[in-house]
Amino acid sequence: MQIIFRTAPVYFWMFTIWCISKVFQCIYKQEKTVWELIWDQSLIYFDEYNLFVDGILIISSISTFWLLAMYSIFDFTQKPAFIRKYKVNPNTNEPPDHRKFIKVLVCSTFSGFFVARPAIILIYFGLKVRGIPDIRVLPNIQNVLITCFINDHLLDIVAYTVHRLLHHRLIYKHIHKKHHEYKSTIAVAGLHTHPLEQLFLGIMPLGLGYITLRCHIATAWIHILSSVINSTITHSGYHLPFLGSPAFHDYHHVKFDCNYSILGLMDRIFRTDKAYRNSIYERRDIVLMSFESTRELYPDVNDKVL
Ligand SMILES: [Zn+2]
Ligand SMILES: [Zn+2]
Repeated sequence: MQIIFRTAPVYFWMFTIWCISKVFQCIYKQEKTVWELIWDQSLIYFDEYNLFVDGILIISSISTFWLLAMYSIFDFTQKPAFIRKYKVNPNTNEPPDHRKFIKVLVCSTFSGFFVARPAIILIYFGLKVRGIPDIRVLPNIQNVLITCFINDHLLDIVAYTVHRLLHHRLIYKHIHKKHHEYKSTIAVAGLHTHPLEQLFLGIMPLGLGYITLRCHIATAWIHILSSVINSTITHSGYHLPFLGSPAFHDYHHVKFDCNYSILGLMDRIFRTDKAYRNSIYERRDIVLMSFESTRELYPDVNDKVL
């Protein structure tokens, strides 16, 4: 099920927040939910272009900032103590190299302006050619969830193809090697990419999905938010309860020539997850539904992680 619904925990929490806003709408007898009111206000101040381009940049920057801040506090302070047991690869990056950390932040901010922004503008015009759905009407929740689900699978096909190409011996050392400097990942590792990788593996596959499906701008906002959250969790180095598992992509950083996709489905089809399926990482690739860590549930065999 993980290979189809790997991103489901994030959507589950988003759906829960939406349900809570619905309850408040009923309690206070409002005509609209808080999200619809925020959207209406946004329409007063921003046009379609700003909503798409700046909206996506603001949402991805703010969500990255807060998640990065939380995981980095865990890494640099080694506190709170109870979080340590959720570390995927204990005794690594404790604490992380702070110079490298700052360098990654500076480089990713720089490529945000000079790579991400122009690429998102290009996607906007691609979407405009396809026809952007009326921004005055918000899509319903079923439409948003189904579009995001299809988008995740389209993204997986493109991202798997691009990622395998980036591992080609003639290309790897020029672009993707930078991302693999983190063998044991921390949250900031997700941002540690060459600008071309950010463009072709990070942004363009998302854009192709939005253009193909003629995504509503609000749906693109939600999808980009879920993608940022999933990418940060995947690289965080922590397997926290009730959130998605980082095991699948963590194994890619550890073993290098397997697990290229995001969901895992493409790796299953092309059998590039063979080694992973016999490893303890696969058994630990679950959504924790209690406060026991995966290392407590599935201890290392003879102190050795296979
Ligand atoms: Zn790789
Ligand atoms: Zn990675």
